Amino acid sequence: MARILITNGTIVSPSGRYASDVFIDGETIQAIFQPGQAASLGIVADKVIDATGKYVIPGGVDVHTHMELPMGPIEATDTFETGSNAAAWGGITTIVDMALQRKGENIQDGLAAWHQKAAGNCSIDYAFHQIMGDIHEQSLKDMTYLVEHEGVTSFKLFMAYPDTYYSDDGQILRAMQEASNNGAVIMMHAENGMAIDVLVQQHLARGETDPVFHSISRPSLLEGEATHRAIVLSQVAGNVPLYIVHMSASEALNEVARAQHEGLNVFAETCPQYLYLTLEEHLSQPDFEGAKFVCSPPIRSRHDHHHHQSDLWKGLRMNELAVVSTDHCPFCFKDQKTLGRNDFSKIPNGLPGVEHRMELIYQGVVLGELSLERWVETCCTTPARMFGMYPKKGIIAPGADADIVVWDPHQKTTIGINGKHHMNTDYSAFEGTVIDGKVDTVLSRGMVVVENDTFTGRKGHGKYVKRDLCQYLH
Ligand SMILES: [Zn+2]
Repeated sequence: MARILITNGTIVSPSGRYASDVFIDGETIQAIFQPGQAASLGIVADKVIDATGKYVIPGGVDVHTHMELPMGPIEATDTFETGSNAAAWGGITTIVDMALQRKGENIQDGLAAWHQKAAGNCSIDYAFHQIMGDIHEQSLKDMTYLVEHEGVTSFKLFMAYPDTYYSDDGQILRAMQEASNNGAVIMMHAENGMAIDVLVQQHLARGETDPVFHSISRPSLLEGEATHRAIVLSQVAGNVPLYIVHMSASEALNEVARAQHEGLNVFAETCPQYLYLTLEEHLSQPDFEGAKFVCSPPIRSRHDHHHHQSDLWKGLRMNELAVVSTDHCPFCFKDQKTLGRNDFSKIPNGLPGVEHRMELIYQGVVLGELSLERWVETCCTTPARMFGMYPKKGIIAPGADADIVVWDPHQKTTIGINGKHHMNTDYSAFEGTVIDGKVDTVLSRGMVVVENDTFTGRKGHGKYVKRDLCQYLH
């Protein structure tokens, strides 16, 4: 494999930025050189990438995706091949996807099925969390087996969706107790699904079937309540690490901040859709267009008693929110989202997003919401540490995997115009958004996968990453 020198750029890490050159030998970073030092040492590279005026950052780590997720009669439209390619286009070099156990299914079979979907198909590296959709004695045994033998060290539970993935409080407590023995992180979809289902039925009975009622039937109070309950259960189980996924609401953020202040091991992520999209501008679009923005938890209103979006940005600055992921779960508008044309509860939940995460959160830097360093921390370094992949992933340092993005802050791009994206959907949730800055070059373990607006990656280059325990606690 090639020796590559990335020269004249500014390396950005959570602790600062500095002008240095990166020397890559094969799949890993060999050395960081002072500008000009490589030449004086007689270092010869097969390829030189000139990063003058550009940032050199660790490849993005998106720890929440759903490739090929079955949902009723349909499936999320990105395969591991199309989804990992789209991720690479957007400067993501590692995804952590959610392997699935449904009611009546075995966890080990669920994980095996996910390996089968991904193996040989990804252009970037990938790892798995395990969804536990049926918690009983055998699931708990399997959970510990996965931690000890399979490199799966985090498990997602649902307080929502009583008809499918839901776990009751007793089941959640039992999984948390098991995690307190095996060291796993419990990831929680925190919405009170029982109460939400009542509200959904009441809206439908009144003939309120439009996409906007998806959000109205899932009030932010019920996200806050479930977040509180999850925190209490994790405390009862012995302060097990709890990671609240896709946070959308101020009430939930306040619960997390309070728990952190009390010294509990509670972490949280949010997603770009909750930072930018609104009920008024997006979910309320006429002619059923609002269905394009249906996901859970829902896109919130600008006019709630809390200003969720500014609170979420504040949470990201203050590290109350440690990570930005995408919850990438793409469905097409035609024939998929339209299944809910007369009943919002039948609209498949999920948005395409993996391709636009780095640029949308960089927009927070442009808007003055985050520092450049914090952008790298929330999108690259912390997700790698949170889920046991650091320092192979998430940092530019000798010995790390050569997963690198060269970012050009002087270019502009517009998302999704004329179908210009690489995710396998017929629309973009961020269509028309102008981004100040652009992915320039992307390397995955030393292989150039995006360069000169061309995809140069290879199906099957991406390898499975066996993860360690959460590196904030172990
Ligand atoms: Zn999800």
